Amino acid sequence: MPTLWGDGGDQRYVVGTRRRTGGRSLIRLVINTENLVNYRVRPVHSPSVYAAMGQPSMAGHEPRLYPSREAAQETADSWKWQRTRVPHLALNEWPRAMHNADEPCEFCDGRDAAMTGGGLDTNPHELPESEPPATIAWWGTNHGLWRAGWLTETNIKIPDRLADLALLHLALARRTQRSRADWLARTVKGKTLADLHDEGVGRDRIRFLRGDHDPRQLDGIVHAWLDTDNRVIRTKSG
Ligand SMILES: [Zn+2]
Repeated sequence: MPTLWGDGGDQRYVVGTRRRTGGRSLIRLVINTENLVNYRVRPVHSPSVYAAMGQPSMAGHEPRLYPSREAAQETADSWKWQRTRVPHLALNEWPRAMHNADEPCEFCDGRDAAMTGGGLDTNPHELPESEPPATIAWWGTNHGLWRAGWLTETNIKIPDRLADLALLHLALARRTQRSRADWLARTVKGKTLADLHDEGVGRDRIRFLRGDHDPRQLDGIVHAWLDTDNRVIRTKSG
């Protein structure tokens, strides 16, 4: 659903199924957008979903919708750009927080391919046709982003081998992020959530987990597993 005036896009209304109702009970609620991944545009055909979109505070009113499919797609594309392109291609003056581990991301796919020995020719995305080479638009395509992930990862130990100025800078920045994350991972072991909260270690650097879930590695991020006392027992950093 579109964001409403004044919420800054940090939170938004969603319609979902209530837990433990087998998908029968629909509710509308506000959640933090940082928990949402993989934005896609789909038409609403179901009358009950449409009705839930107007509940509860908009009872009696039509829900606010996107004016067109194109407008909805533009929003989805813009979120994708903000979540994946901006942090990986360092497009902001201030580093933007890394996306969630379950966000589909071509940069991380290219990096993972390089880590597991896949060649540059395993890029599954088509070569861009309309974007001029060496531009942000070109590197921001699925193909370009995958390639940037692969090339920076392959040359991360000796970045000087990268002839492309932009890629060299990205690889150097990734080395810095990685060593900061490695250092943080070593220092958080044994600490509690409360300790880390007091130290001001935020979500832009550390993400907490419990149980067996093993998310994909993320640049500059420490994943930290907590025990039942909220103490860090294991870490993984990228
Ligand atoms: Zn990524």
